[in-house]
Amino acid sequence: MNEIFRYVDQHRERFLSELFALLRQPSISTQNVGVAECAALLKGQMEAIGIPARIVPTGGHPVVYGELSVAGAKRTILIYGHYDVQPPEPLELWNTPPFEPTIRDGRIWGRGTGDNKGQFFAHLKAVEAVLKVTGRLPVNVKFLFEGEEEISSRSLRGFIETNRPLLAADYAFCSDGPMLPNHQPTILFGVRGILHVEVSLQGANRDVHSGNLGVFVPAPAWRLVHFLNTLKDAQGRILIKGFADAVVPPSPLEKDALRKIPFDPIVLTGLGLPAVAPEAGQGYFERLMFQPAVNICGLTSGYQGRGTKTIVPHKASAKIDMRLVVNQDPDDIFEKFVAHAKAHGFDDLQIERQGGFYPSRTPLDHPLGAAAARAVRQGFGKEPILQPCMGGSDPDYYFTRVLGIPRINVPYAPHDENNHAPNESIMLEGFFSGIKTTAAFLHEAATL
Ligand SMILES: [Zn+2]
Repeated sequence: MNEIFRYVDQHRERFLSELFALLRQPSISTQNVGVAECAALLKGQMEAIGIPARIVPTGGHPVVYGELSVAGAKRTILIYGHYDVQPPEPLELWNTPPFEPTIRDGRIWGRGTGDNKGQFFAHLKAVEAVLKVTGRLPVNVKFLFEGEEEISSRSLRGFIETNRPLLAADYAFCSDGPMLPNHQPTILFGVRGILHVEVSLQGANRDVHSGNLGVFVPAPAWRLVHFLNTLKDAQGRILIKGFADAVVPPSPLEKDALRKIPFDPIVLTGLGLPAVAPEAGQGYFERLMFQPAVNICGLTSGYQGRGTKTIVPHKASAKIDMRLVVNQDPDDIFEKFVAHAKAHGFDDLQIERQGGFYPSRTPLDHPLGAAAARAVRQGFGKEPILQPCMGGSDPDYYFTRVLGIPRINVPYAPHDENNHAPNESIMLEGFFSGIKTTAAFLHEAATL
């Protein structure tokens, strides 16, 4: 491994300039800006390493797929990443332009540095380093890079279902999301699921004068407030009947892992909020990883410009996201949500489902986790924290449920990577230690 690590150290400048080429290419999936060009660039970068690659069309943005088979290799690793990025707006809040990557304060700044180009590019450079130094990989490697993660991976499930033999593997591996606030590496074994719902109400066919007709016309804004009020009580308990029936509480092993995750009050103080005691952190992690949540993420009705406008708005709507945990099923939860609205007399409420993901988890004591931990110790020179789950959501269940293989996620971006926000970054050391970690992981996985 030392020789491989030396190769990584010797080629830092070139690795950076290649990553910068990828970062300079916008690939904003939701705006369809530069995505096809980025796929072509990525394919070329994979081929330059010696990975046969192709662009596979889907109903949406293409998948870039690559594969390196090794005679005699016993294990196959499926590496997942996404080459699409979030829109860069608001542009005026960026210190340097989003698609002109810059190095400052030990970090690379730019859209996609952390989420997810900088992270998956580390896997490609790891493969290059292992190939150049040893001549062969210790495992077969398959690469699945999608261009729609930031728009809920719309085509990925179809792609995976129609390409099962192509994607057959023993384990799935990825790097997405952040490390811990103390820059300690972490290994994530699962994700929460998510269900997006938009609810809307309409009264009259247009806004009306609140003084004249206000007493006669229905008020959708008030009615929406009353509906939202039925979802949770003042203590934050979710009131949808049967909502938490399928929730599996943490096992003793998982509880033990939760206790070892350091809670840094900066998660609150950094947001200008009062700090909480470290003990409260324990409850925080259990809620984050093992309990579902119902969140109002958008609320719209009436006039919201400057000054006043005396109307009864004729429409009101809210966007709601429900974070789900193992073994909640988004289909079942949606039915329960609809039934809840009916049971409370909100038959006039329009409820639109807007996609989501299943929750998913790989067992904390799976040997794959131990292999990743050994790799992190070599690559980062630090002890990793094992997290049973992350609070966010991604298509993990496509691997664990659809393909039926375990997946773990070892993030290489910092906790304050500002993904989806202005001034996104990855630390240089995270990128290079990540390359070394992936290289070590390929060797560790070969021994499983
Ligand atoms: Zn993202």
